[in-house]
Amino acid sequence: MSVVVKKVDLTWLDRTYLWPIAKGLTITLKHFLKQVFKPTPKRLTVQYPEMKRPVLDGYRGLHELKRNEDNSIKCVACFMCAEACPARCITIEAEEIGDINTQQGLLEKRPASFQIDALRCIFCGMCQEACPKDAIWLRKNYELSCRSRFEMQLDKYDLMNTYAGDDGRERVEHIERAAPKPERQPLSNQLG
Ligand code: SF4
Ligand code: SF4
Repeated sequence: MSVVVKKVDLTWLDRTYLWPIAKGLTITLKHFLKQVFKPTPKRLTVQYPEMKRPVLDGYRGLHELKRNEDNSIKCVACFMCAEACPARCITIEAEEIGDINTQQGLLEKRPASFQIDALRCIFCGMCQEACPKDAIWLRKNYELSCRSRFEMQLDKYDLMNTYAGDDGRERVEHIERAAPKPERQPLSNQLG
């Protein structure tokens, strides 16, 4: 299909080419000053990491292993998430407990260790979908940088504390770790 492009008749002012340049620079300056004095989430240049873009609802970021109100782990080591994981990056070791939990009744098992290899994970959310206890969530933290591959082997301690700072909850400290690694920072100071 042909399109007729309308010819623009330039005025003598436009033909100087200085006036259009001045108009363009005025618009640029206006946006620049607006963002300097009143930054908005719509700004194109985000001063990361001091500023962070908010992510949309439904975004699948770093995992969290949910806790009960008494800070015990919600996971009952049923292995459904590990079975559903297409990347085969969840490793669970179960242990028997036989505890009576005030919210969930008799608990027969819990994970002695729960590990996700975040380097292999494709953040598909299948583990969250498969979990019958609503015990694993993929939430909004997208900060996956690390200094070694080892830091991306998220263990039970990491996964229970991923969002501790953001939610204003205490870190769970009573969990044995395979080896210490740097703490993840809360996803605070987001724009908007
Ligand atoms: S998000 Fe997908 S790939 Fe990642 S651990 Fe869950 S099921 Fe596996
Ligand atoms: S996170 Fe959910 S699906 Fe995975 S082992 Fe625990 S209870 Fe089962």
